[in-house]
Amino acid sequence: MRCLVVVVCVAVVVVSAVVTSAVPSTPDNLRPLINHQVWEVSGADGGGVVMGLAQSGVVDILGHTADSHTLRVAPTHATLVKAALRAAGLTHTITVHDLAAFLQKEEHLVHKRSTRAQVCTPDNCREPYADHYMKFDEMESYLRYIAKSPRTKVRSIGKSAEGRDIWLVHIKPIRGRAGKARVGEGKIKRKAMWIEGGIHAREWISSATAFHLIHNFLKQPSPTFDVYIVPMANPDGYVYTWTNDRLWRKNRGKTEGSCAGVDLNRNWDAHWGVGASGNPCSEVYMGSRAFSEPETRALKKEMESLNRNKKFDLVLSLHSYGQVILYPYGWTRTPAPDQPEMQRVGDIFAKAIQQKSGESYKAVNSAAGFYLASGATDDWAKEALGTRHVYTVELRDKGRYGFTLPADQIEPTAMEIWNALDAVLAVL
Ligand SMILES: [Zn+2]
Repeated sequence: MRCLVVVVCVAVVVVSAVVTSAVPSTPDNLRPLINHQVWEVSGADGGGVVMGLAQSGVVDILGHTADSHTLRVAPTHATLVKAALRAAGLTHTITVHDLAAFLQKEEHLVHKRSTRAQVCTPDNCREPYADHYMKFDEMESYLRYIAKSPRTKVRSIGKSAEGRDIWLVHIKPIRGRAGKARVGEGKIKRKAMWIEGGIHAREWISSATAFHLIHNFLKQPSPTFDVYIVPMANPDGYVYTWTNDRLWRKNRGKTEGSCAGVDLNRNWDAHWGVGASGNPCSEVYMGSRAFSEPETRALKKEMESLNRNKKFDLVLSLHSYGQVILYPYGWTRTPAPDQPEMQRVGDIFAKAIQQKSGESYKAVNSAAGFYLASGATDDWAKEALGTRHVYTVELRDKGRYGFTLPADQIEPTAMEIWNALDAVLAVL
């Protein structure tokens, strides 16, 4: 600012200071959401109109049940979406008028820190945070710390599109006298499980839960299971949710269009292309070809290699939100091999959660009652690896907070999954 008259200039500075303090500025990662609305759409979408809008990049489906949808609608698309819904006989109510302002108001819940909040430094991070979400560099500090443990192997299985590491944590079955007596002497068969977290960037509770599972397995290793966990499968997207767009879902790969990012959970070679989008501006963009992205290629290569050596008994992909335990297939309504068995163990999973925390989760087939979607981790693990028990777990909540789950729910969510896993591993 150049000042010709000093008095005027001082007045301008004072006024702008008052305005600045009265209206808190929108954080950078909420700016793309200014004036975006949340619409609750009612009615069975038999014609697939909503999915059609999502595949065209016109709406973002935040959540859905068999006869309702929660949509994010940008102001530029509101008229078009309204007309399409009306033509399909669907009704809607607007529950949030400005998503940026709405999320800004709730930010204190998401970033809540107790007075004794843990702080990770690059050299010291003994535990994943229980009362706030970790940034990516803090996650790496924790991984660096646990890599020193003899029970654990931490290694990078590849790089993301922007060159960040995709870390794999391997926690071996318990060693020591009791463990040796049970494992490796033929009395109890050694088993293996794989857990993937954070493949969708905005689902912060997914990787937070994966980190807590790592921590619990370190304190209390399984007597029989080799545990392999990739707690952050989409580091670029996750960093982007902190810096640029809190509701970013995809990775940050370049596309052939003007929009960046591929939905990594539509990019696996499992009937790739069914129920996904070929439009790079869609939140469910499947990529230019199956395994076009370095993140999915790294996961695939590692899973294939481990599975060749010792077949996985269980594969879990952690997502949010909705509190459902989904099992394959998602690409077709034809039952997958072992469907009754997956339902049986899924019910055990849900019941154990209910007993621990009182939260209700439901085990259901992915495709039943929902849209078909292909190219996901779970269908690929079922078909390409032949894993018997495969689940996509949609963690808390049921929609009250959605992707911006308050930080005080990190520990309860992780603990209900930890206890449920205990029940599930006992019957595999
Ligand atoms: Zn997801």
